[in-house]
Amino acid sequence: MHCGKPVGSEGEEYCPDCRGTKSRIRQGRSVWLHTGLVPGAVYRFKYKNKRRYGEIFAAEMAKWHGEIIKRWGIGEIIPIPLHPSRRKRRGYNQAELIARGLSMYTGIPYRADVLFRIKKTTPLKELDRSERRLNLRGAFAVSRKWTAPENILLTDDIYTTGSTMESAAGILKKAGVQNVYFLTISIGQGI
Ligand SMILES: [Zn+2]
Repeated sequence: MHCGKPVGSEGEEYCPDCRGTKSRIRQGRSVWLHTGLVPGAVYRFKYKNKRRYGEIFAAEMAKWHGEIIKRWGIGEIIPIPLHPSRRKRRGYNQAELIARGLSMYTGIPYRADVLFRIKKTTPLKELDRSERRLNLRGAFAVSRKWTAPENILLTDDIYTTGSTMESAAGILKKAGVQNVYFLTISIGQGI
């Protein structure tokens, strides 16, 4: 299983979204599908100042995926950053709260000072797949002072097409990371 989205049959590696695309991500997992009560909870976490949800979500991640995180041999947990102006408006970065909680539960250090968003991007849900890729070109930068560990774990709230993760993974690999993994709260299906 590559991204963690449901696949047709057991043992199948790639979901329809991953099939045929070359991924920079080694592997990823999510806790829930983005259905039922999950979208509302994620929305309140992101936009309604429910910061304490971060720890709850991180606890679920550690509970369901603690074993595989151990196997991945993660050196550092890195949150997908927001653009500084967006972070300022919201007051916090939800991906960072997840990374911090996950660090607490796993003992793996997290770094919120190595990956930066340097370009304001259009909200991805308004764009199609190729527009997303263009929109994210040059969106991220990595600190020059950082010594890249071999394996890193990216955190974010939702995984949809994976274009954000792919873009971040690209720049991290350029900085010397060998394997990029990800964990999100939820995963969209066929979006
Ligand atoms: Zn997939």
